Amino acid sequence: MIFLKETGEWKRLEISLTKKGLAKDKKGIVEFKAFFTQDGTDQVMNEISRFVKVQNRWFYLDGKVKSVANAEMTVNQGLNAPCHCGSGKKFKRCCGK
Ligand SMILES: [Zn+2]
Repeated sequence: MIFLKETGEWKRLEISLTKKGLAKDKKGIVEFKAFFTQDGTDQVMNEISRFVKVQNRWFYLDGKVKSVANAEMTVNQGLNAPCHCGSGKKFKRCCGK
């Protein structure tokens, strides 16, 4: 998890993708977007985090930030533009579904 400097204010989290993390798995991957305000500007951060299961409990392992973008730019993005999450797909076929 990336922690922002004190001026940042978290708004909400949006889970966009999970891989594994089922009962039989020992590792899980979660992709999420974190919306926050920093220095008066709305921002959205895309992070992929890994979790490991130890004795039936999930623990945060590590995370990788894919992108940090201005939230307004993200919202105004065209449906046929490459998705901001870095998947290489068009927005309408990816996070814009
Ligand atoms: Zn996407």
